[in-house]
Parts: sequence; structure tokens; C-alpha cells
Amino acid sequence: MKKLQYDMLVIGSGIGGTTSASLLSKAGYKTLVVEKLPFAGGRCATHDYHGYKLNTGLNTVTDDCHGALCREVGAEFEMRVTDNQWVYRIHGQDYPQPKSGKGILKTMIGHAATSEAEADRLMLAIKRAMAWAPPSYSWSLDEWLRQYTTNPAILGMFQNYLAAAGAIRNSELPAGEYFRMMKEIDASGRIWGYLPGGGGQLTDALVRAIRSMGGDVWTGCPALKITTRDGVATGAVVRKGGESIEIAAQAVICNAGVKKTVGLAGKDLFPPGYLKDAYTVKGAPQTIIYFTHDRPLIEADSVICLTEARRVFMYSTNTNACPERAPRGKHLSGAAAYLESSLPPFNLKGEVEMVLADLRDNIPGFDKYARILTIRVNREEWGLMKTWPGFTMPVKTPILGLYTVGDDCGPPGWWCSPAAVQSGRRVVEDVVHRYRPA
Ligand SMILES: Cc1cc2nc3c(=O)[nH]c(=O)nc-3n(C[C@H](O)[C@H](O)[C@H](O)COP(=O)(O)OP(=O)(O)OC[C@H]3O[C@@H](n4cnc5c(N)ncnc54)[C@H](O)[C@@H]3O)c2cc1C
Repeated sequence: MKKLQYDMLVIGSGIGGTTSASLLSKAGYKTLVVEKLPFAGGRCATHDYHGYKLNTGLNTVTDDCHGALCREVGAEFEMRVTDNQWVYRIHGQDYPQPKSGKGILKTMIGHAATSEAEADRLMLAIKRAMAWAPPSYSWSLDEWLRQYTTNPAILGMFQNYLAAAGAIRNSELPAGEYFRMMKEIDASGRIWGYLPGGGGQLTDALVRAIRSMGGDVWTGCPALKITTRDGVATGAVVRKGGESIEIAAQAVICNAGVKKTVGLAGKDLFPPGYLKDAYTVKGAPQTIIYFTHDRPLIEADSVICLTEARRVFMYSTNTNACPERAPRGKHLSGAAAYLESSLPPFNLKGEVEMVLADLRDNIPGFDKYARILTIRVNREEWGLMKTWPGFTMPVKTPILGLYTVGDDCGPPGWWCSPAAVQSGRRVVEDVVHRYRPA
């Protein structure tokens, strides 16, 4: 078998994999990324569909997370921050969310509460959870909220925000994790924006940066097996152009998901405790529908958040911020929805019917003017996250020199692509203390 030597081998070119590979390349490690699909990026890629730029996943980015990474590794980053107004539909009425960071929650809870006393009771509990004692991980967010209110509009608002950030239901999220996430966002003062070419622009830029620093990125090349000797990772066997190649590396960073990593290295090498945690990791599913229309259907520059719909929690017209994403004169809109439960088995047909019913109820002229491009119930490893928030795994595996990165390995309180970026950063911090570039 042909043999090649690199300092570092990264399996998978998702945002976690490309974060680690770009930072390692910058630190002087000769790095190879192997990706099994014919394109790079995983859930951070964009495909052309009859002239429309549709994302496989990621739609919004932040300057403090993605922008900072790109600047650090010399990758282009062009984030478009719009004047988007987030509008919450509560009891059929639209309430714009205040723009300033502080006081947003108080104002929105005030709109949904049936009395001032109800709003004050909940706000006091939230303030204490943020500033004093957060609730434990053994309570769900739903159980925690219901101590203070059973108002469906308030529960719906929390569900709406949770669905956007982590896809799962209030009853499925550990309450403690919710407040950790809120604190992380509070600390970063996060500003969200869009990439004019779609989410894939981010990983494409990182791939170019990796190559420009001497690293290699191979697409269409699956890792077949992670190789080990005496409990230490030594590299992988990779399929390239019909032949198997043995890649030797000082360390292996796997972005394929913890369960797949176990499969690639061999289940027998992992202690039962690690396997138990790895197999509790379950994808956070989300339905995404893209549709096009010739005339505006959604209030210009608005993101509409539904608090009491069947499934849809958010929809907007992508081309308001990024007209480049559709052929001239066409609008591209997207809607996102949670599922009845985030645990399989899923009634895929029923879920899609609920989404369409919500869109018909809320967008005047939807049936007449909207043409559906794609509807996808993203799930398992293609879900919003590869794991539910609050159930992530550490980046170090029990096998020496084998790390995992991705949104299933982020630190507590970090969700979605920022979690994947953080996992990549943590791995590189550890690598530079243990290994030297050859
Ligand atoms: C519909 C949707 C919308 C989203 N919107 C946002 C958003 O707006 N903002 C945000 O921050 N996040 C968003 N996310 C989440 C975000 O996309 C993910 O958190 C992030 O992209 C996960 O990256 P990852 O590092 O876990 O890698 P993944 O995307 O999981 O990529 C892993 C890669 O490993 C490859 N691989 C697997 N096995 C092998 C093998 N044997 N050999 C080689 N390669 C292999 C896969 O093909 C894949 O490319 C969204 C997700 C979805 C699905």
C-alpha cells in the first residue's frame, strides 16, 4: 500500500475540521484534510440549485467567532450585517424585538405575559439563574419554566429561541445548559450576519487558506480506518482515486462525529464508559424549506419568529440581505421548523405537512406565489447539531493522539458552528504543547 507522511491528519472538512487544519497549518504543522464527499464543508457548504445558492446547513455567522478565526489564519471573511428586524408573532400580533442587547428578554416577555406580576416573577427567576445560581442539568428547560409560568406564548418564545439555536424542544434541553449558553452569548456580545455567497463561503475560504499555507485538502477521499499501535493513533487508511493510501501522522483529528470515530478506530479500543457516552449522542433534527417567489411575500428585511405555530419557528427572505443567492428578479426565502420530538422514529410526511400548513397560515399568498425548491428534514449527523446541546463529548478520546472535533464536541454552553470552532481551537491548543512539526 502507498504510504504518505504528514504531521497532522484531519478526517472531515466540516467547520470543526477546517478550523483545526487552518490553525495547525498556521502553526507550521504539515496538515492533510481528507473529506469523503466530493465537496468540502459538510453542513457548512453551499450548492447551486437552478441558479439558487442553497446551504447544506449554516446560514448565519458571527464576527467574534468566524470572523476572528478567518483573520487569524488569513482567510477572506465578508459578513453582511443587515438592519434585519426580528419580529415575534404573539397571539397573532407582530412585536419587533428591540435592537439593543440589554432588556430584549424583558420587553418580549412583557408582550407575551398576561400580567405584570407574571412577567416580573419570571424575569426575577431568570436574573437569579444568570447572575447567581443556574439550575441543574437534571431539570429540563420546560420543567424549569413551568415553575413560573404555563403561559403558552411565553413557553413558545423560549421554544422559538431554543429551536433557532439548538433545534430541540424545551422538554429535551437541560435547563442548566440553557443558562450557560445565554451567558456565553452575553459575554461575546455576538453580532450575527450573512455571507453573500451562502454559508459555504466560510469553509471555502478556510480551505484556500490551508492550501496557501502548505496544507492539503482532498475531497472525495473517505478515511476507511484509523490506525493505532499500542493504544496510540498512528494515522489512517484513506481511499483516493481507487487506491488505498496509508497516511502516517503524529496525531489524528476526526471531524466525522464521535460515533463514527469509534467505528473508524475500532470499538474494542474504547472503554465501556466512553462508549456509553458516545452512544447517547443523538442528532438535533430540523426541517428546512427553501422557496422562491417573484414578488415580495415577507415583510422586507424581517425575520418572522412564530411563537405559537405547529412547527415553523422562523422564516425570512434570504435575498433581502444577499440578492446574489438567487437569479436576477427572484426572491429566495427559507423557513425553519422543529419536529414534534427530536427522537426518532420521525413521521417525515406528517412533519412536512405541518410546516406547509404553518406557512399557508402565516404568509398571505404562499400557495399562489411561492414555488418550493427543497424541503429537507435534516437529522442524525446532518441535523442542526450532531448532538443535542448539553450532551457534548470531550475533544480527547481514550486513544492517545486521537482527538474529535465538531459541534458534538464543543464546550458546555457553545452550540452549532461556534461549538465546532471552539472544539477545533481546543485541539490545536493541546497539539502545540505535545507535538512538534517535523
Ligand atoms: C439546516 C441547518 C442550518 C444551520 N444553520 C446554522 C447557522 O445559521 N449558524 C450556525 O452557527 N450553525 C448552523 N447550523 C449548524 C452548523 O451547520 C453545524 O454546527 C456545523 O456546520 C457543524 O460542523 P462540524 O465541524 O460538526 O462538521 P460537519 O458539518 O458534521 O462535517 C463533518 C464532515 O466529515 C465528513 N466525514 C464523515 N466521515 C468521514 C470519513 N470517513 N472520511 C472523511 N470524511 C468524513 C463528512 O462528510 C462531513 O463533511 C445549521 C445546521 C443545519 C443542518
